[in-house]
Amino acid sequence: MTKTVENVADIIDLGYLQAIQDSLGRIVGITTALLDPQGASLTKPTNLHAFCAMMQASEKGLPMCMGVNAGLIEKNIATKEPAVVTCANSGLKTAAVPIFLGDRFLGSWLIGQIRMSNLDEELIERTAVNAGLSKDEAKKNFESLPVISAEEFENILSFLVTVSKTLVDMVEVNDVLDRRNTELTSLTQQLDRSLHTFKSFIDCTDMGAYLVDFHTGELIMCNDTYRRLAGIEGKDIKGLTCFSLMGFKEFCSFCPKQKLVDEDGRPTGPFGWENYNEIVDQWLSITSRTIPWVDGRLVLMTTFIDITARKKQEEHITYLAYNDQRLCIPNNVKLFSDVNEAEGDSYMICLNVQGLRKINDAYGRDVGDGLLHNIVDWVKALPDSEIEIYRVEGGEFAILAKGYSESEAMKLAAKIHERFDEAWVVEMSEVRQNMYAGAHLGVLKTPRNFESLSALLDTIERVMSFAREDSSFILFDDEMNANLEARIRFEIELKACVLNGMQGFSLHYQPIVQVEDGRWVGLEALCRWESPRLGAISPVVFIDEIERLGLIDILSSWVMDEAVRQIKEWHLDEIPGFVLDVNLSPLQLRDRELVPKVRAVLEKHAYPPEKLSLEITETAEVNFDGTTLDMLAQIKETGVSLSLDDFGSGYATFSNLNNLPVDCLKTDRSFVKGIEKDAFLQQTVRSVVELARAAGLLTIAEGVETESQRLIMVENGVDRIQGYFYSKPLSVSQLSLLLDRFVA
Ligand code: C2E
Ligand code: CA
Ligand code: CA
Repeated sequence: MTKTVENVADIIDLGYLQAIQDSLGRIVGITTALLDPQGASLTKPTNLHAFCAMMQASEKGLPMCMGVNAGLIEKNIATKEPAVVTCANSGLKTAAVPIFLGDRFLGSWLIGQIRMSNLDEELIERTAVNAGLSKDEAKKNFESLPVISAEEFENILSFLVTVSKTLVDMVEVNDVLDRRNTELTSLTQQLDRSLHTFKSFIDCTDMGAYLVDFHTGELIMCNDTYRRLAGIEGKDIKGLTCFSLMGFKEFCSFCPKQKLVDEDGRPTGPFGWENYNEIVDQWLSITSRTIPWVDGRLVLMTTFIDITARKKQEEHITYLAYNDQRLCIPNNVKLFSDVNEAEGDSYMICLNVQGLRKINDAYGRDVGDGLLHNIVDWVKALPDSEIEIYRVEGGEFAILAKGYSESEAMKLAAKIHERFDEAWVVEMSEVRQNMYAGAHLGVLKTPRNFESLSALLDTIERVMSFAREDSSFILFDDEMNANLEARIRFEIELKACVLNGMQGFSLHYQPIVQVEDGRWVGLEALCRWESPRLGAISPVVFIDEIERLGLIDILSSWVMDEAVRQIKEWHLDEIPGFVLDVNLSPLQLRDRELVPKVRAVLEKHAYPPEKLSLEITETAEVNFDGTTLDMLAQIKETGVSLSLDDFGSGYATFSNLNNLPVDCLKTDRSFVKGIEKDAFLQQTVRSVVELARAAGLLTIAEGVETESQRLIMVENGVDRIQGYFYSKPLSVSQLSLLLDRFVA
């Protein structure tokens, strides 16, 4: 803030003005003094001549002089211009220059009494009287006054005007200077504060920070963390360069100077990078930027954060995401990214270790893992280069052979396959034991662009299913792949239709005919599916697929419900001896809910249980063990009868017949085909029918197409016949017209 100017002393040291006054006095010999607004002297009057002393010492003279001065000041204030008067008593000239700061009157420069011309005798006399002196004494005093010309007087006056103005100007200049000073002070304070804040900020973070001269690398400032990182704790940083601390070359290779300044050397945006130091096993995240420093220099500000912990965590997470924890090899997620990224020729060998579940069940998971470890170690030790083994899941592995030709990949697969002929040595309760495992291998050309991990897993699953079906060692070629893709599309469509209320499904019914009189005594419900895209699909195909998709329960429930409803609608259940045959999938014999479900359908439609027969088939999976026999007994308890379907198609064992809780035996179509010319087949059929009779079972011959076949079957004692000879499976509308065939 500018201080208030009360008088001239507030503008300038009065000593300067005194000096000006004194010089004037010496040069021109006149009397001057600086008066404050009240007329009191601020400076010591210069050249007080004997005349003034005379006047001021006399009773009348002093008020006279004072009156003249007061008049001058009054005039000054009124006009703001220099005032000049001639004293009526002494005839001498007196002048005053006012000093105004705007409207504020700060005082006057006074020029004392000046003799302009030769003395007037009369005036001398009057003055002598007023001063109470003799005329001679007065004359002497008058004569001591300097005589100056009018021109000299004007010069002095204008000099004083200039000095006065300058004094006022000085106030303004001072004002400006003061303002500047204040600004400067506050800026400096701010700067101090910022610097302080900056210092304490960088000191209290656990981030390392330093500031260097951009051109020389000389350290200007750094914090404790940086000192620790750079190993200069407690050292004076004077003379040190950051570059000397971390190696200038190393620094520039990470953070080239051109990243920090533009072509004109002006600061550009920050540049950050991560740096790993092997020696101390440390990761740093480093950010550098140039800024103009307070002193105008370009400085480089660099911060470091120790991100070792984060990096380690990331590495660990990545490791977990990409590796199998039990076997310590890459997992299927890693396989997915590697297969998709593989370039050029490469092959994926899918390996399925057989019998793992049995080993796990019998000896525990650790032994199973031990076996897998052995296999993995063996594959890893193969001299073949560029191969990597991944665990897909369970006992499934994938071996990626990069840069392999087809024959090389097949050779490798053969080598792996052969190894499985030998035993694997597994540590078991501290005993080393030989263990044998089987292997299915499928070789697939890669890269393929798998859209998702599940797409990859599905493909591996398919490759493995091809491998299981065809042989234990196959090349999954383009044709298979085309089949595979068709199969996948088919599956998706089929699944959607089943889940969408059995869309496109219907039932056909094939008559079962009494041999004696040709009367229709039963119907087998047979499922049909019209694919929206592919048209009619054989149940042999879609039933299998639905079983694999785990949807067979939905289909079976629908078939049973729909067939029973239809028979009811036709009133066929009212015909004595009529039987509706419905097929059961072998998988359903494992379903604990099967019996309640059957009961529910019967109740829902008030259908007589003895008019329903469920057809079951003996397969590799269902071999009528205790649990299955239990289930069959429960079905029988509901009053529903059971038929053994496809008898003689492969798995059925004659000896079982006596023990099975079935009521009816349906001989397979293969018994009929070519029977006319096959005496052995005829003999077999005869034995089967006799066996069935002995066990009290009804016999139905399926697949009878010709009259001669019919005759042979009848001759051999078959009770009923189901075949094209009588009728193909019929649609609902076809059968609706033939219902009278059931009436005796
Ligand atoms: P299946 O249970 O053995 O059914 C008899 C099959 O033999 C039917 O084939 C029928 O059309 C066919 N057939 C009957 N007589 C003759 C003949 O004289 N000559 C020839 N060449 N074939 C004859 P379809 O309808 O194609 O069914 C095939 C299989 O699909 C069935 O064999 C059965 O295993 C399964 N299936 C059909 N519908 C269902 C169902 O609703 N549920 C279950 N689980 N399986 C079903
Ligand atoms: Ca059947
Ligand atoms: Ca059959």
